[in-house]
Amino acid sequence: MPTPPAPTVTRFAPSPTGLLHLGHAYSAWFAWAEARRAGADGRFLIRIEDIDRGRCRPEFEVAILEDLAWLGLTWEVPVRRQSDHMDDYAQALDDLDGRGLIYPCFCTRAEIAREIEAAGHAPHDIPQGPDGPLYPGTCRHLDPVEAKDRIAAGDAHALRLKTDAASAQAGPLTWTDLDRGAQTATPEIFGDVVLARKDTPTSYHLSVTLDDHIQGVTCVTRGEDLFAASHLHRLLQAVLGLDTPFYRHHGLLTGPDGKRFAKRDKSETLRSLREAGRTPGEVWALAGIGEGDRP
Ligand code: GLU
Repeated sequence: MPTPPAPTVTRFAPSPTGLLHLGHAYSAWFAWAEARRAGADGRFLIRIEDIDRGRCRPEFEVAILEDLAWLGLTWEVPVRRQSDHMDDYAQALDDLDGRGLIYPCFCTRAEIAREIEAAGHAPHDIPQGPDGPLYPGTCRHLDPVEAKDRIAAGDAHALRLKTDAASAQAGPLTWTDLDRGAQTATPEIFGDVVLARKDTPTSYHLSVTLDDHIQGVTCVTRGEDLFAASHLHRLLQAVLGLDTPFYRHHGLLTGPDGKRFAKRDKSETLRSLREAGRTPGEVWALAGIGEGDRP
C-alpha cells in the first residue's frame, strides 16, 4: 500500500448546522491521528463547510471550535470558512462552463420525479445515485437561447455537470483509499450531478474538492458514507487540474441503540456531555479512543 507523501496534511470539515456529537469527535480524531502518525511532518487543519446559508449558524461554528479545543485537539490557523471563498467556486464553474461541461437546470424536485415516472420507472425501480434519484437529463436538451432567456428573467437554476462529457475529456481515472487500495473511478454513478445549487452558487462536491486542493490536503479522511463521493471528486480534480489526495474512510460510530449519531439527537452532543460533567477523557472513551491515542 502506498504511503502519502510528506508532509501529511489532513482536515476535519464540519458543517455548522448544529452542535457536534460523538461521531464528529471520532471523525475529528481520525483526521488528527492520521496527521500525528506522520510525526513532525503531520499537519491537521479544520475547515468550516458553511455553504448552506439557510442551515448554517455562526454560533454553531463558535461552539464547534470550542468543543474541539475542549477535547484537547489543536489545529493550524487560519481555519478556512467556505462562505468566505465563494469567488473560488465561481471561478471553477466559469472554467467548466468555458469548456462546455456544465448546463443550467431549472427543474424542481417534483418535475424531476414526474419526468422519471413518465420515462416508465415504477416508484420502486427509480435509478438511484449516491445522492438520490439520477437526474433524467431534461434540461441538458434545452435550447441554449431559451436557457439564456430564462436565466436573464431570473428563473432559479442549478448548474449540473455533463458527467459523461467530463469523463470522456478526463479519460480513465483511479484514486487510492489507504485501507481499500486502488480504486477505478466511477463518477457516472452520480449522473449529471449538481455543482451549483439553486439556493447557493456552489455545492458540497465542488467546494470540498477545490478546498482540499487549495489547502494542500494530502490525505482526505472522512466517514465511509462519503466513499462514493470520492469517485466524483476524482473526476472534478481531473477536469479542474487539481491535485489528487490519498483517501481513508472510517466506519461510522453508532450509539447504544446501534444507530448512527445524527445532529437531530440533541441529547448526545459534546456540549450536553460536557454540561453533564463529563471530562474530555471520558468523552474520548465514549468515542472508543484509547488513552494512549488521545490528544
Ligand atoms: N462537511 C461534511 C460533513 O459535515 C464533511 C465533508 C468531507 O469530509 O468531505 O459531513
